Amino acid sequence: MKLDNRGLLIVLSGPSGVGKGTVRSALFDMPGHDLVYSVSMTTRAPRKGEVDGREYYFVTREEFEKRIQENKFLEYAEFVNHYYGTPADIVEKQLAEGKEVVLEIEVQGALQVRKKLKDDAIFIFIAPPSISALYERLKARGTESIEIVNARYEKAMREIKLAYLYDYIVVNDTVENAADKIMAIIRAEHAKTERTIAEYNKLLGITEMNKKG
Ligand code: 5GP
Repeated sequence: MKLDNRGLLIVLSGPSGVGKGTVRSALFDMPGHDLVYSVSMTTRAPRKGEVDGREYYFVTREEFEKRIQENKFLEYAEFVNHYYGTPADIVEKQLAEGKEVVLEIEVQGALQVRKKLKDDAIFIFIAPPSISALYERLKARGTESIEIVNARYEKAMREIKLAYLYDYIVVNDTVENAADKIMAIIRAEHAKTERTIAEYNKLLGITEMNKKG
């Protein structure tokens, strides 16, 4: 039984090339969870097989910028010349319904959420097992020139140094390990006293607590 009513907001982030998307998929493939994925909005074009409203809400730059003006994003960032953002109203509705909402976003966006909701969300940094593994992944990504790969690498290195701002660091040594650890973190966060004490007292009819110490 779940003791608290409001859902948890779980922010998965990490440098470009670390495999955030793969870890998130593995997490959602695990049995027995009730996580929901927050579908972001983007101005990039859909890739083959992507469906509007499932991977992303695909919108034009004009639409996106209008929503920025209207303050409709929990966070947003520009990444490789495209906007990406988390629609605030959908996330808020899901949290109010007690759902566990997972954001998988890049680092600038995660830091915006942290500023707004420091104590109301869990911030998990997905880290590469080594710097050379990250470089290899960035290189293996596509057919880009070495300059582009190096620029992405520089950016990833700057992002890696921001890991200290997160609540947890999960190394993506294998996708299964990383997903397992994230699930364990979510379960442990649920059992935290500050999250459960009010409902616990209600449940057991306790009106006065013993003082600590
Ligand atoms: P892709 O274009 O490969 O789907 O995503 C590019 C990057 O954008 C990934 O690092 C992904 O985590 C990030 N991203 C996806 N949605 C959002 C979002 O709503 N906000 C932010 N800040 N980043 C996002």
